[in-house]
Amino acid sequence: MELDVKVLQEKILSLKKERKALILAHNYQIIDIQEIADFVGDSLQLARQSAEVSGFDMVVFVGVKFMAEMASILSPTPVYIPDPKALCPLAGYLDAQKIRGKKKEYPGVPVVVYVNTTAEAKSEADLICTSGSAVEVVESLGVDRVIFGPDAHLADYVRAHTSVEVIDIDERGHCYVHNMFDLSMLIELKEEYPDSIAIAHPECPIEVQEQADMVGSTGMMARTVAESDAKVFLIATEMGMIHQLQKRHPEKTILPMYEGAVCRQMKKHTLEKILDVLVNLPSKNLVTVPEPFVPHIRKILEKMNKLRGQGPATRVKVES
Ligand code: SF4
Repeated sequence: MELDVKVLQEKILSLKKERKALILAHNYQIIDIQEIADFVGDSLQLARQSAEVSGFDMVVFVGVKFMAEMASILSPTPVYIPDPKALCPLAGYLDAQKIRGKKKEYPGVPVVVYVNTTAEAKSEADLICTSGSAVEVVESLGVDRVIFGPDAHLADYVRAHTSVEVIDIDERGHCYVHNMFDLSMLIELKEEYPDSIAIAHPECPIEVQEQADMVGSTGMMARTVAESDAKVFLIATEMGMIHQLQKRHPEKTILPMYEGAVCRQMKKHTLEKILDVLVNLPSKNLVTVPEPFVPHIRKILEKMNKLRGQGPATRVKVES
């Protein structure tokens, strides 16, 4: 028998206290999950939050696996993921061999990888970036050229905002969710809402980025909507973010540029699976990273976290 959402949320909140568990959730999770999380944010904000865990015995990380892996490297406590099969397909574009091939082709050119990569791919990188920190990370190297992957649209975003030459590791690399947006969607909505602010995620195709009023991570979107006087926002990112923004700002109109932009992998997590982790602590849900990769990844994650990037994760309270 399916439990009512409120009943499930209450059970999770009570067990969370008992277990001394911290729940971190990505912006793309459904609102029911965001409501029981201690912190909700983008991958950079959640990586920072993981590094600052204190006073908890465990972390439940509700996001795709590579994010949970980063949390497990940075967090002093064990990290559990509600559904270990929540994998990001973008990460599948890069393996260590491909990166080694590019390094051979461009000797001495540093490698920056997006966080949406496997631990093995990260182990070949000189630095890691999130969408909120990509430009800053690339510029922090002080070089003329970088090797970059796996997202070719994010690479375009970096090209548009720096003078650094960006060499794609795989030009085909993309997020299937953000790749759904096209310029006609933006133009049509802008015609209908001329006073709106259009914000696109940097994983969107470059022509969408170029015509949007702003481009940035989900963390930046949250801040912009909170701080701007505009009444209508057109958002090009995953639908979980749209629901969250609308719930936080009922006085504003938050319109998705495309309602079909749903990440099936992020949505594998459910309240039932979170409850199961808290009740049973299943070993299959414990997140681990192969030991040989850990010291290097920790070092480059810590470097990324030290850069300014974008603001802190936000706390979301459950409404009674
Ligand atoms: S939205 Fe795209 S990049 Fe993010 S987890 Fe889903 S597939 Fe990966």
